[in-house]
Amino acid sequence: MEKSNGLRVILFPFPLQGCINPMIQLAKILHSRGFSITVIHTRFNAPKASNHPLFTFLEIPDGLSETEKRTNNTKLLITLLNRNCESPFRDCLTKLLQPLDSETGDEKQRISCLIDDSGWMFAQPLAQSLKLPRLVLNTYQVSFFRNHFVLPKLRREMYLPLQDSEQEDRVQEFWPLLKKDVSRILDVETELLDPFLDKVLKMTKASSGLIFMSCEELDQDSLSQAREDFEIPIFAIGPSHSHFPASSSSLSTPDETCIPWLDKQEDKSVIYVSLGSIVTISESELMEIVWGLRNSDQPFLLVVRVGSVRGTEWIETIPEEIMERLNEKGKIVKWAPQQDVLKHRAIGGFLTHNGWSSTVESVCEAVPMICLPFRWDQWLNARFVSDVWMVGIHLEGRVERNEIERAIRRLMLETEGEAIRERIQLLKEKVGRSFEQNGSANQSLQNLIDHISFI
Ligand code: UDP
Repeated sequence: MEKSNGLRVILFPFPLQGCINPMIQLAKILHSRGFSITVIHTRFNAPKASNHPLFTFLEIPDGLSETEKRTNNTKLLITLLNRNCESPFRDCLTKLLQPLDSETGDEKQRISCLIDDSGWMFAQPLAQSLKLPRLVLNTYQVSFFRNHFVLPKLRREMYLPLQDSEQEDRVQEFWPLLKKDVSRILDVETELLDPFLDKVLKMTKASSGLIFMSCEELDQDSLSQAREDFEIPIFAIGPSHSHFPASSSSLSTPDETCIPWLDKQEDKSVIYVSLGSIVTISESELMEIVWGLRNSDQPFLLVVRVGSVRGTEWIETIPEEIMERLNEKGKIVKWAPQQDVLKHRAIGGFLTHNGWSSTVESVCEAVPMICLPFRWDQWLNARFVSDVWMVGIHLEGRVERNEIERAIRRLMLETEGEAIRERIQLLKEKVGRSFEQNGSANQSLQNLIDHISFI
């Protein structure tokens, strides 16, 4: 760590795994550059403070009931948390901004800024009223964040449901999505979202800066366009785990037996399967996935989160005799040390839901993907993987054993897979260069440090 620069940054992650990891990684980056760190967090999904003894953690009540905490409805969660957390967050922030320590009477460190997630609706007006600069950390791909504000307009104009002949058309305002992708997003996302998007857009434009965990090498055009659209400083500091690993901010305990199991497998032979921290599937979808894996005859490491198969606790509905057949080739765990898994020499492919973190973690380890997106930005990330970077095979929403088996064979055994592997190796090297001295992510990070030092 560099010597302390006498400045403190306040971070306020949204309490979902996909938001906590990048925020804690950002905290580590800023701390290594001399900033002191205070993390304000909800009681729900609280990050493990003991893993970060150099940061100050302050918990605020979130008012969620036990049932609300178990919801898989992200929009409902965003609404409830925004309603419940505004007042405790205001109290906490106001206290932090007092110039003198209430116990010792000593002068406190200057607070440079607040960095929070774009999902917190009250943060911008509150920060403004307290004269505290606020930056937004965004955990989406740049082009998704920039373009998703057009969804209400697309809902009005696309005349859903689509004709068969239109399914494969690209949507110019939301490139590279196809019309069928947009209709899948709009199918799930209700009109309730429209005022929410409008607010996020206004609040972001009013902020003092926008940080992306992406880089020019991954999304250059959207970055230039976003700079024009938002007219605020934009920092694309690169996939954050490239600076520091995320495992210390994992909300679930990773099953470390994955690694010795992988040690016993051949190089690039194993297909790793994870659908992230939010997606839920039906029992029959789980069965299609496990049969697709087993029938491919490749070794596999499958993550099934507790509670992620609707109507069951874990995998107890898989009959004993099928489990025996699965165990011949595979291993099923509740949560994996994903970044270590993707780094392992035995991994040959990643069947993923294409959350942004999983997607970039895969790119950074040159692991080709099989794309199985379920919702929201996952559809766009998957299109980038299959159609733009051409480093994966898209299942096109078909959770069917034959499709999965076929995709695994194409990726792991056929010449098509070799070409994909070569392309993802090149992409990994390109992204890696952005972290070098004059690389785009490195420069952007330096610009961010300067910005928040003198803001
Ligand atoms: N992850 C993990 N172990 C698992 C599954 C996921 O550590 O078994 C991590 C993964 O490395 C990533 C995050 O959880 O950093 C998931 O974020 P992503 O944006 O991919 O998906 P989300 O969970 O937000 O849908």
